[in-house]
Amino acid sequence: MKELQVKDKRFAVSIPEAELQKEIRRVADEITKDMQGKEPLFMPVLNGSFIFAADLLREIPIPCEVSFIKLASYQGTQSTGEIREVIGLTQDITGRHVIIVEDIIDSGLTMAHMIDTLQRQNPASISVCSMLVKPDALKVKVPIAYCCMEIPNDFIVGFGLDYDGFGRNTRDIYTLIS
Ligand code: 5GP
Ligand code: MG
Repeated sequence: MKELQVKDKRFAVSIPEAELQKEIRRVADEITKDMQGKEPLFMPVLNGSFIFAADLLREIPIPCEVSFIKLASYQGTQSTGEIREVIGLTQDITGRHVIIVEDIIDSGLTMAHMIDTLQRQNPASISVCSMLVKPDALKVKVPIAYCCMEIPNDFIVGFGLDYDGFGRNTRDIYTLIS
């Protein structure tokens, strides 16, 4: 089993790159079918979704736009479930078919807040596309139109996801072991 050290923690491969890429192509095909003639606006959420967004979008051949957004990081608060402000929302999304591209949905609170924020600008539709979802961790109901894989309620790194800023630059996804 391939292992990885990130700072003080050890991780082991849980999703090999090839397995993930297969699911990314499946989701890309679904989006391609659903969004024919709609010129969707993809909004990947930085930083975690940068690799997923790059791979997903290269499998979607229809005309579309891409505009990255980010969540403001609050200093001094470590509490989980905190609501963070959406920043970088410079594009007019009125009447657009928006697809939020997220790395992972855990409690769902981040996504619920983001949908709320975007909804106020009257887009034609909002869909969520998440690379990973932890169904057992969901605390609020989030409509997830597209999902590559469901995973257990464990902490993971790699393929864009970090532990304390590190570990984003791996091809496979790793789960915390110790
Ligand atoms: P939620 O608001 O759904 O609880 O949290 C979503 C955010 O928490 C994700 O966008 C991601 O940034 C972070 N997150 C949740 N689970 C994990 C995980 O297992 N690993 C990493 N690296 N980040 C996670
Ligand atoms: Mg994220």
